[in-house]
Amino acid sequence: MEWFVIAHCNSCDEEITLEVESDVPPYEMGDLIDECPCGGKFVVDEIREMD
Ligand SMILES: [Zn+2]
Repeated sequence: MEWFVIAHCNSCDEEITLEVESDVPPYEMGDLIDECPCGGKFVVDEIREMD
C-alpha cells in the first residue's frame, strides 16, 4: 500500500508531504517525523491511503 502523509511544522506552520510504501500505516497522527529548518518539528496531521 502507498500512503500520503501531510505534516506541518509546530513552529512556523511549513507544510511537507511524503509518499511512503508500507503494508501498515507508517505514522500516527501527532508523530514527529522531521526537523524544520526553523528549529521546529514536523507533526503528522493527515495520513491518506492511496489507490
Ligand atoms: Zn518551521
